[in-house]
Amino acid sequence: MSNMDGLTVTECRRCEALCESRSRIVNGVGPADADLLFVGEAPGANEDEQGEPFVGRSGDVLDETLRDVGLDRGDVRITNCVRCRPPENRDPHKEELANCRSYLETEIERVDPELVVTLGKVPGEHLLERDVAVTGEAGDVTDMTVAGRPQPVMVCVHPAATLYDPSQKETFRSTLEKAAEFTDGESGQKRLGDF
Ligand code: URA
Repeated sequence: MSNMDGLTVTECRRCEALCESRSRIVNGVGPADADLLFVGEAPGANEDEQGEPFVGRSGDVLDETLRDVGLDRGDVRITNCVRCRPPENRDPHKEELANCRSYLETEIERVDPELVVTLGKVPGEHLLERDVAVTGEAGDVTDMTVAGRPQPVMVCVHPAATLYDPSQKETFRSTLEKAAEFTDGESGQKRLGDF
């Protein structure tokens, strides 16, 4: 069940296992009219504890890299494919992704972002509905139809990849830079670095 804004799920029992493993439902954060919507996989331990996506080490990498390309966390919207923490941080199962899909689609519909950026393989494959090689395809934009409307989707590596493999740092940074440029081009929106 989601509340009137269509962005906040207040109650859900669609996934038996995730109802057991979660402490709370972790909804998206950021402006409801953001130009950029980042979509991760699922909450981890920190997110489950604090009730906000990307607040652990991956979140630090995301925040720092956003700043690097002239954006602020507060300027963008951040959400996940699945809103409840899977047990032992395993990948969400196909049925769990499917169960949570309508919440994600409603969020994309309401926010109506200029660009959706998928963080990692799971959200990339979930939204593009095909196999995705995230490193090779990072920065590529596909025109998708989401909730019956056209929606550009950009593939990006997961911020945690930069912690395991420092060579991914530049891939991550340059993808976020492209994402920022994409929305600048679409709306003429100014970034912090322009001033
Ligand atoms: N990784 C994700 O995919 N999502 C989060 O919210 C945190 C880490």
